[in-house]
Amino acid sequence: MRTITLIPGDGIGPEVTAAARAVVDASGAAVAWEEAPAGLKVGEALGNPLPESVFQSLERNRVALKGPTQTPFGEPYRVWRDVLGPGGTPETRTYPGVTIALRREFELFANVRPVKNYPNAGGRYQGVDIVLFRENTEDLYVGLERMVDPDTAEAVKRITRAGCERIARFAADYMQRTNRKRVTIGHKSNVLKLTDGMFLKVCQETLAASPALEIDSRVIDALCMELVVKPETFDCLLLPNLYGDIVSDLAAGLVGGLGIAPGANIGAGHAMFEAVHGSAPDIAGRDIANPMSMILSAVMMLRYLGESAGAERIEQALAAVLAEGKAVTRDLGGDAGTRAMTAAIVEELKRR
Ligand code: NAD
Repeated sequence: MRTITLIPGDGIGPEVTAAARAVVDASGAAVAWEEAPAGLKVGEALGNPLPESVFQSLERNRVALKGPTQTPFGEPYRVWRDVLGPGGTPETRTYPGVTIALRREFELFANVRPVKNYPNAGGRYQGVDIVLFRENTEDLYVGLERMVDPDTAEAVKRITRAGCERIARFAADYMQRTNRKRVTIGHKSNVLKLTDGMFLKVCQETLAASPALEIDSRVIDALCMELVVKPETFDCLLLPNLYGDIVSDLAAGLVGGLGIAPGANIGAGHAMFEAVHGSAPDIAGRDIANPMSMILSAVMMLRYLGESAGAERIEQALAAVLAEGKAVTRDLGGDAGTRAMTAAIVEELKRR
């Protein structure tokens, strides 16, 4: 039995993580859960949105399923961790949000976001089957911003050789394991010659060690245009942090929206699985959120844990519910609630 840290999160987080938990339990996978609350509400109650208990839980269990956590837009928001630095000196590390803090503290450097068509899931395109690899710890997300004067703000964009090498190596390994052939690197090295220039060059050099892979590259704006014109021609994408974040949502939109896009954050020793979408405050607490992205994130988690049979059964049960088209949420054209859709998937699992 493997214990998983479960972070319910904010907004629709508790609803969709409850759905994923119910479906995993019904799949027969040997998994137990340890709840570790974090997020805006936890911050209001405890001061810090990311208490030390969450770090301890993930340290112990090494794998987490995380609901989205809310970060206020454009307002100061403080997430911090008190640690002992070099020589035992106490230091406080601060982060722009809960998810970024967890990714950085556990060095979850690879964000894997698969995007593909599901039956009746909407979207304007067919034949889309893309895996997006996003570097998860560097770039503008290092969170170093400052006011130069009252009217000028600036931010640091940090790209390191080691960071590029490890995400490119990860992408190459993943592609070899899953029989993927072509990877397109996205960058803006015509303008950002040092930072994006390094990302492009080091990724190309690292991927070249895998001769079976076809390596391609695009300037990020041209890549976005091509993705909305002919997404079916892409296999894998390799992107720095910010472009990866933006293109993930764009890619989710190609196949039906944020409600169906799962994700994984993977490091050397820990992993955290979460949907691409956020806490969706506009629909929170109304039993209308689509639980599919969180369920598919749990499927990725089961595969990571070697529970492939359970993962396979969930995917099949989900596909059956989608194909029938009755018990699906409104973003999928139905009128079922989160709970009713989850119950239908659980029923389908029992029949299998
Ligand atoms: P969002 O993804 O929460 O919502 C964007 C739109 O998609 C909304 O209209 C929402 O209703 C819809 N949507 C999202 N998930 C859905 C689902 N499962 N089913 C049906 N519709 C769904 O993005 P946002 O509004 O930009 O962000 C809201 C909050 O979420 C912000 O505080 C942001 O910081 C946070 N966020 C957190 C994470 C994370 O924890 N990993 C990721 C992204 C955003």
